[in-house]
Amino acid sequence: MERPNAWKEYKKTELKKVEQTAEAYRRFLDNGKTERECAKQAIEMLEKAGYISLDSAIAAGKKLKAGDKIYVNQMNKAVLAFLIGKKPLETGMNIVGAHIDSPRLDLKQNPLYEDSDFAFADTHYYGGIKKYQWTARELALHGVVVKKDGSTVQICIGEKESDPVVGITDLLIHLSQDQMGKKLNEAITGENLDIMLAGKPLAGEEKEPVKAQLLKILKEEYGIDEEDFLSAEIEAVPAGKARDYGLDRSMIMGYGHDDRVCAFAELDALLSIKNIPESVCCGMLVDKEEIGSVGATGMRANYLENAVAEIMNLMGDYSELKVRRALKNSRMLSCDVSAGFDPLYSSAYEKKNAAFLGRGVCYNKFTGSRGKSGSNDANAEFIGRLRKIMDDNHVFWQTAELGKVDVGGGGTIAYICALYGMEVIDSGVAVLNMHAPMEVISKADLYEAAKAYKAFMLEA
Ligand code: MN
Ligand code: MN
Repeated sequence: MERPNAWKEYKKTELKKVEQTAEAYRRFLDNGKTERECAKQAIEMLEKAGYISLDSAIAAGKKLKAGDKIYVNQMNKAVLAFLIGKKPLETGMNIVGAHIDSPRLDLKQNPLYEDSDFAFADTHYYGGIKKYQWTARELALHGVVVKKDGSTVQICIGEKESDPVVGITDLLIHLSQDQMGKKLNEAITGENLDIMLAGKPLAGEEKEPVKAQLLKILKEEYGIDEEDFLSAEIEAVPAGKARDYGLDRSMIMGYGHDDRVCAFAELDALLSIKNIPESVCCGMLVDKEEIGSVGATGMRANYLENAVAEIMNLMGDYSELKVRRALKNSRMLSCDVSAGFDPLYSSAYEKKNAAFLGRGVCYNKFTGSRGKSGSNDANAEFIGRLRKIMDDNHVFWQTAELGKVDVGGGGTIAYICALYGMEVIDSGVAVLNMHAPMEVISKADLYEAAKAYKAFMLEA
């Protein structure tokens, strides 16, 4: 039952393709550190490949037919892409869905304060993080500031060589006797994750001169006032680029593999389909998975359903019943990262059901925690079909379970899409250091995921 390691089997031509995919992915990671940046990048890739926005198709009254390519931009934070197939929509779609939000620190709405000749920004962390991992390291600020006149200022500070970085301090070891005795989840508090932004007072300013200097810089360089933070979304993320990891360059270390590695594999697969497919191929890049898929850009909002209805309408074949059938008859891979087996922490895993880096794309029949709570549980019939698709297409694949039964667990968007009555299974790439500022994946698994997702979209 042990699954083979893909690296052992690759021939020269395949190794080259693995490396090409990895290189393109590293650029994708570097250019998309937030859900907005990632969505923007995805839309650029889709438009370059001939996808047009659903809104523009509606406005033009375009009649859609097989082979047409449509994308949906959900508030600049989630993207759906549809490649229309030969069969009627109501026979169902082959859906591959990943999320493009990642754990990070969000600036609060009223973030700025001055203390002891420093200016700080208060944050509220987003998603599950080990707080101690975010101190004493370089951070970059990414996001948007929307002004009252409706104009948007793009922020990206800390990525260029010449940029300054920001960060969160940690107490020196010499004075840390109390801190070092605390439990890991108590040693650093969420309210103390305040980002140091400045340390130079403005000459001639009496009241909060460091903050005044900072506000002067923000005004001069970005044209924003302190009040503009009220309508801003600024995320502190690890600064710097993704890098090859390991002396053999077999892995990639970077911020946000969860879940941009699946997002990239999905786009790579979709954009590599050159002929008109039998069934509609749908790629989803969704937001807010890390905080429960909430809000208008999370999977729980109805934008998939709405998009299907609109597309059906533009194909001249709309009815509510047909929309329901299209969703019910669909097949879906809920693509999200899985826990890669880490021999340094082997006691957290059950080895024969764990995913290993290098052994290919993962399939999790179920997720959830403690008695599968919060899980989707894929049907054996569906998995049987998937096994055939994977093997027929020479995909390296493995099964995965997120740790030992009683140790913990996690969820994805799978259970939400399953509410339509469609077949859904979790599939993804094994990650080390999941949710840490720097996560690790194997290049082989990325390559196999892209292969798997293409095979699924064409044959499911
Ligand atoms: Mn995830
Ligand atoms: Mn996650």
